[in-house]
Amino acid sequence: MTMALVQNNTLDLIGNTPLVLLKGPSEAAGCEIWGKCEFANPGASVKDRAALWIIRDAEARGELKPGGTVVEGTAGNTGIGIALVANARGYKTVIVMPDNQSKEKMDTLRALGAELVLVPPTKFADPAHFVHTSRRLAEETEGAVWANQFDNVANRKAHIESTAPEIWQQLEGRIDGFTCAAGTGGTIAGVGLGLKAFDENVRIALTDPHGAALYSYYATGELKSEGTSVAEGIGQGRITANLEGAPIDTQFRISDEEGLEWVARLLREEGLCLGLSSGINVAGAVELGKQLVAEGRQDVRVATILCDTGFRYLSTLYNPEWLRAKSLPVFPWLA
Ligand code: PMP
Repeated sequence: MTMALVQNNTLDLIGNTPLVLLKGPSEAAGCEIWGKCEFANPGASVKDRAALWIIRDAEARGELKPGGTVVEGTAGNTGIGIALVANARGYKTVIVMPDNQSKEKMDTLRALGAELVLVPPTKFADPAHFVHTSRRLAEETEGAVWANQFDNVANRKAHIESTAPEIWQQLEGRIDGFTCAAGTGGTIAGVGLGLKAFDENVRIALTDPHGAALYSYYATGELKSEGTSVAEGIGQGRITANLEGAPIDTQFRISDEEGLEWVARLLREEGLCLGLSSGINVAGAVELGKQLVAEGRQDVRVATILCDTGFRYLSTLYNPEWLRAKSLPVFPWLA
């Protein structure tokens, strides 16, 4: 696979990420497991794509004009992606986040030039919730748009138009299955729809962390959660607009311990430093691979998403004290 390594515009650095064959997961599944390296985006996560598509969509609809402001309620990767894209396009960024988030995230967003509005954490039904606060702020601010990543389908369009065709081309049109977890659902729905448009036989599996309601929804039709997870950026309790009509064929539920095991192995054995959602995705991809192999399919190929860099979690996943406080296993080399 060759790729364009020269770009005339920094925003063209978003997407066109490498796809890598993962050795340990492939051995465990008995087939090829491929990881899409979304940590290679400028903001080091898969959310740069959503940020770019959301901002371009707002421009195309005439809502976002030169000097305007992009407002979003998020504590994580979406905020980072929006801040970078907004800088490149000449917009201001306002991020509303709960004040219990890690200092690292606040520092990162401030470092990128975003204005941070901190609100006390509260339940979604409360009008003071950070998502509702961000919407109101956008309404009240002259020249501002609300990114609304959960229900703005420009998010999943990014994956229909970029991630899915890239995976299809990188695997030369031969792929049996795709899986990843859902936060907004933009990635799983968009890649699922995009791959099915090339080949409707590609099996699309949702990989759900504990504490989320989608595994149960796709298995039984009922939104019901079980357990908890410390994974950031994933775990959804409702059918967002981005998830509506997602072509989910099957589903897996993966624990933090299983995800952490793959985070540890990929780091120690393959030299990839990733966040926990990537580990959970890889565990799901191994399950999907095994399922396809057990059905007698030959030369099975499964792809998943390596969502973000582990460098974003030095004070959590890679911090023994934090892990012990959460009763999670500490990586042996840190113990
Ligand atoms: N992993 C991480 C680390 C994320 O920040 C996100 C974004 N919320 C996801 C996975 C899930 O992506 P999506 O919102 O497209 O479902």
